[in-house]
Amino acid sequence: MSDEPVTGRFAPTPSGPLHFGSLVTAVASYCHAKAQHGRWLVRIEDVDTPRVVNGSIDHILQVLEAFGFEWDGQIEYQRDHFDRYRQVLQSLFDQHLCYACECSRKTLRDANAQSGPLGLVYPEFCRLKSLGQKGHSVRINTEGCGIVHYIDQVHGKVGFNIEKQLGDFVLRRADGIYAYHLAVVIDDEQQGVNQIVRGADLLEATCLHLFLQKALGYKTPQYLHIPLVRNKKGHKLSKQTGATAVNLNDKSSLLIEALAILGQPVDREMEQASAKEILISAIANWNHHNIAVPSGDIY
Ligand code: GLU
Repeated sequence: MSDEPVTGRFAPTPSGPLHFGSLVTAVASYCHAKAQHGRWLVRIEDVDTPRVVNGSIDHILQVLEAFGFEWDGQIEYQRDHFDRYRQVLQSLFDQHLCYACECSRKTLRDANAQSGPLGLVYPEFCRLKSLGQKGHSVRINTEGCGIVHYIDQVHGKVGFNIEKQLGDFVLRRADGIYAYHLAVVIDDEQQGVNQIVRGADLLEATCLHLFLQKALGYKTPQYLHIPLVRNKKGHKLSKQTGATAVNLNDKSSLLIEALAILGQPVDREMEQASAKEILISAIANWNHHNIAVPSGDIY
């Protein structure tokens, strides 16, 4: 590692109240940064403005405060970064690394585009059309990129063939909304984030982030993907699967449950302690090697 300060972050999407799965991510990213005496930032990922649910930003911040998390610096909001995203996208255009695309989802379905692990594989229809940007989406050209690999601190080697399994992916939608993949890469670089802890649903997507970092000449952070918290039906806890807001009357036991999911040593007697005391003890005892490792490489 370089001598830059360890910088982690928690980057929730405000599409609903903070649920237990997000609390586990907040705990893991906080303990991982603080155990290394690093900084921990909070960034609200509201790039997809139509998906923002009223009141959810306030709820997320209230929960973080109630649990005793202390973030460093100002909270950042992606909605304040649109100029930054526009400039970076333009630089990719100037280098002929991306192009405008007029294909709708229907065009792709009608063309029987293959379905890959991250969505339909784009059949490159517009790669050579040189369309203007207005009213069109923008895609990155992934030609010849092969398999992109990284070493995840829990999962080990992860690799994904972007060109074959997803194709040229969207950086800005036709309605002008910047893609999460572009925004996250730019913001992490701008904020000096060098350790990213988040849910395992982004394991493969991280390869897209590495691909963009390389195209933009950015540094690649270390990645640690934590196990997904699932409901009784085995679905990932999320707003879509009806996950409910964390219960602020139950903070200590929720934190202990979160630490148990992360494989951290927990003393059940700590349930009598305050949430803040539990967090302090969790930082002191944090060992990311205890997080359960699924067997085998991910391809
Ligand atoms: N905003 C994403 C979410 O709430 C997390 C993205 C990330 O940590 O990179 O699921």
